[in-house]
Amino acid sequence: LAKKEGKGKYVFYKNDFLKANIKTVNMANRLKNALDSEHLTLYYQPQVNFITGEIIGVEALVRWIDPERGFVPPIEFIPLAEETGQIYKVERWIFKTALEQKQKWEQNGLKHIKVAINLSSKTLTSDVNFRKLESLLEAYNVDYSTIVLEITETAIITDIHSAIRRLEILTKKGINIALDDFGTGYSSLSYLRNVPLNVIKLDRSFINSIQENGRELLIIKAILSLCKDLNYEVVAEGIETKEQLQFLQKQQCTIGQGYLFSKPIPIEILEPQLKSLTIK
Ligand code: C2E
Ligand code: MG
Ligand code: MG
Ligand code: MG
Repeated sequence: LAKKEGKGKYVFYKNDFLKANIKTVNMANRLKNALDSEHLTLYYQPQVNFITGEIIGVEALVRWIDPERGFVPPIEFIPLAEETGQIYKVERWIFKTALEQKQKWEQNGLKHIKVAINLSSKTLTSDVNFRKLESLLEAYNVDYSTIVLEITETAIITDIHSAIRRLEILTKKGINIALDDFGTGYSSLSYLRNVPLNVIKLDRSFINSIQENGRELLIIKAILSLCKDLNYEVVAEGIETKEQLQFLQKQQCTIGQGYLFSKPIPIEILEPQLKSLTIK
């Protein structure tokens, strides 16, 4: 009986495993198709200077609109693309699209608008693909000092020495590097002291805890003051309420993004706002 049960279980697991794989393969095929048939698009979330109310830059965020399934969120397909290796091609498409856009803005009097692009940890840890991205960056006539690449702690700590070496290639060109989602990982700013970072993006979970009180607030205050001493620019992520904004202003944090200002939006909606220079 035990043997029979065991056998049954094995079959069950095997089917489950197969199903999971079929799902992955299906998704991967659809993603390939999405790339070929241009079902990917970039949305842009404005980054705002709280003091002047101006849009100083945008973060490019990829969107997949599947004709059958509708909207597929990036947290679903970016990790899958990283697993299958499709990320390299997806990312080159993202960079191409964002850099083309940036180049157009520069030709149309919007030279000062910074463009932040997320860089997958896979690319930062792959020599071949990193080099391809480097030549892609060189193919566009853009002011590097207004390009920001957002990287995560994972990308750095996988191999910190290679990460530093590769990031230095970028910063020597004048490109800015932002540490994304700061506060969600385990490493400290002192561990990252040799990494050429210009910007620290304070994670949404930090900003969220501003509503709370006591120790959480002390931690954010300490981080903001440390960033200031270390000469990092701080961008607050996920600002949703006026209270959060007021707190940040009081701490002399002046740049951020979040639904309070704008969700990520398609280019047709963004451009008129850029031209009027201020939001709201
Ligand atoms: P991220 O780079 O930290 O991007 C910020 C995410 O927070 C975006 O989600 C954005 O829509 C969301 N967000 C912004 N403001 C608010 C707010 O006030 N409240 C809330 N609740 N959310 C806010 P999104 O676009 O779904 O992207 C999720 C993650 O997927 C990104 O996190 C990034 O890690 C990844 N991702 C998105 N686009 C790309 C891309 O083009 N390339 C790569 N490699 N990863 C990307
Ligand atoms: Mg980001
Ligand atoms: Mg982030
Ligand atoms: Mg995030």
